[in-house]
Amino acid sequence: MPRREVRKRVRRGRSMQGAQKSEFGVPPTEEETQAFERRRAMKERALEGWVPKTVTGKLVKSGELTSIEQVWARNLPVIEPEIIDFLLPGLHESVIDTRKTARVNRSGRRFSFSSAVLVGDGNQYIGIGLAADKEKFGSVEKALRKAKLSLVKVNKGCGSWECICNNPHSVPFKVVGKCASVRVNLFPAPKGTGLVVGDHIKNVFRFAGIKDVWCQTRGASTTKFNFVRAAVDALAQTDRVRASNEMMQKITLRPHAREERE
Ligand SMILES: [Zn+2]
Repeated sequence: MPRREVRKRVRRGRSMQGAQKSEFGVPPTEEETQAFERRRAMKERALEGWVPKTVTGKLVKSGELTSIEQVWARNLPVIEPEIIDFLLPGLHESVIDTRKTARVNRSGRRFSFSSAVLVGDGNQYIGIGLAADKEKFGSVEKALRKAKLSLVKVNKGCGSWECICNNPHSVPFKVVGKCASVRVNLFPAPKGTGLVVGDHIKNVFRFAGIKDVWCQTRGASTTKFNFVRAAVDALAQTDRVRASNEMMQKITLRPHAREERE
């Protein structure tokens, strides 16, 4: 009796693993990434012939607004992703994950894809977008558009008491990011520490230009989407948190200055 039950359980476990492998968690292949790159080069050429449709787009194209800070200061809506392409030309893009999801209806299963894309200029701005579509490529495109339109500013600094340099290489103070059950705590680290964070969220810091940080995670961080979104949220907190004057004096908040040492 006990033996048979054990055997049953093992068999069930195996079949579940097989199902997960074949249906869920399809990573983008080499060919797809190459196609993605080609498409990006094409888009750069298309940007020259871009005809803006919105007021914000027209102001950006005419050269009246030269930075995204000016757009935000005027409270203008950003609906066209070309505005971001125009203002931040060297934007890094990375497909975090692509999932095949299934919906069951009367005639069987209907599949769709959901993708998450991370963008960042490598210095100050990052954004994340999540979108679903019938095609894998379509979902990536949609997610990319969403990521560009949801850019957030990251305030960098040197908040570690172990470090006295005045360069913005880490976070200015401790911040907490949330998404679903995931909590990401970021602590300022001295120069040379590197990115002491989970592999899934390393790109988030690379895209924001942060070189040294300590991280503590709680919750289901194996859920890639939520983990990355929590990390982005934590970095966005650096701009949302109100710092006291004393805090501002201690910490060098110079987001526009690049690292001077290099
Ligand atoms: Zn420092």
